[in-house]
Amino acid sequence: MGRKFVAVVGRPNVGKSTLFNKLAGKRIAIVDDKPGVTRDRIYAKAEWLQHEFTLIDTGGIEPKADDIILAQMRRQALIAIETCDVIMFVVDGKLGMTDADNEVALMLRKSGKPVVLVVNKLEKRSEEANLYEFYNLGLGTPIPISATQALGLGDMLDEVVAHFDDVAEEDEDENVVRVAFMGKPNVGKSSLINRLIGEERNIVSSIPGTTRDAVDSYLETEEGQFILIDTAGIRRKSKIKEVIERYSVIRSFAAIEKADVCVLMIDATEGVTDQDEKIIGFAHEQSKALMVIVNKWDLIEKDNNTFEKFKKDIQQDLKFAPYVKFLFISALTGQRANKVMKVVKECYESYNKRISTGVINEVVSQAVLMNEPPIVSNNRLKIYYATQVATKPPTFVFFVNNPQLLHFSYRRYLENQLRNAFGFEGTGIKLIFRERK
Ligand code: GDP
Ligand code: GDP
Repeated sequence: MGRKFVAVVGRPNVGKSTLFNKLAGKRIAIVDDKPGVTRDRIYAKAEWLQHEFTLIDTGGIEPKADDIILAQMRRQALIAIETCDVIMFVVDGKLGMTDADNEVALMLRKSGKPVVLVVNKLEKRSEEANLYEFYNLGLGTPIPISATQALGLGDMLDEVVAHFDDVAEEDEDENVVRVAFMGKPNVGKSSLINRLIGEERNIVSSIPGTTRDAVDSYLETEEGQFILIDTAGIRRKSKIKEVIERYSVIRSFAAIEKADVCVLMIDATEGVTDQDEKIIGFAHEQSKALMVIVNKWDLIEKDNNTFEKFKKDIQQDLKFAPYVKFLFISALTGQRANKVMKVVKECYESYNKRISTGVINEVVSQAVLMNEPPIVSNNRLKIYYATQVATKPPTFVFFVNNPQLLHFSYRRYLENQLRNAFGFEGTGIKLIFRERK
């Protein structure tokens, strides 16, 4: 089952960031009375009653004029409808209902997506009467909360996760590898996909009723069966650059979530952008299989060192994911394009690899012998036993005396030892530490 996406939508100043931070369990954004404060958080992981989900903040800028607010809210709602499973629509219970609330409610209703209507800033019982006018939005029972006081959040989350069961699971064929192609507009995604699938562009799904223009194509080669997900289509016109960027990043997140292998395409003439780092950071956090394609290699003037230097620079930018596989291609001339699916397959094989428990424990005891865990507050981590509990991504559970004693550098050491022994090139892996009961 894929991780669910929950969008937070609402007018500026209704308290979205405050709520977002409360739910994410830590302050990751600046909440400020002054509008216009730059904030750059897009997603946070959250957990409620055994449900893990990703919260997506569709906002991002603070427009001042009313008409811009409305235009931006429409866009936010669109992003949420397109990419998320459940939408939390936040309104201001102190201020009361506004025209913009009405407009957005209409869009959300039409979309048929599950919506949880959240009325914020209701600290006092006496203010609960303010709740009733929001029934007029036609989005069901409004839920009173106070984000600052953390009141009502439990009821709200119950409502959110109750909708998870309604969300249809897409049919998943175990034998088909899902590959998402990401990267900024014009990097060459469509050119490459067209080259890979040749004439028979075989459209397997375009979801009706949404404006989604990511198109999935089916490809069968000697390497296997694949669905190629093109996350193009971010060329909508907007005067607000930040909105467009956020839109494309959120959309990429949604594609990553569904993919086995994530392919980030980088323009050789531009290098790694902030947006690229966000995307690859998210794929890394989700422990997906990961490949970087440097495209437009034909435009680079080369000498003997060009390739190594390029690779080094990119690896430096992406040093949090040193396992990434690289390929330098030209989608235009076709140079090395025939290698793409081979490398994708290698990444997938790592992602799907299973190691037997006996062998893992040999490697782990050897690792501990060579380099004992450091002493933390007079105590030392003891690893009793390790086992691989899942593939896609490879997930290892270490049973230990006390997970608190794990230092992050030792976690990295163990991951490196597993990687040295078993490869796992081209994929993230997950290490979980549990107390042995
Ligand atoms: P956003 O623009 O929707 O992200 O709103 P913010 O989270 O930045 O909050 C806007 C303002 O509303 C800030 O001054 C917050 O302190 C305030 N605020 C947020 N939540 C509550 C609440 O539950 N009660 C009250 N009284 N104020 C709140
Ligand atoms: P997308 O927006 O990522 O799907 O990018 P497109 O596939 O539409 O390509 C954008 C532009 O870059 C087009 O004009 C392509 O012909 C050009 N392009 C794509 N790949 C290459 C390449 O490898 N080399 C060169 N020189 N141009 C390329």
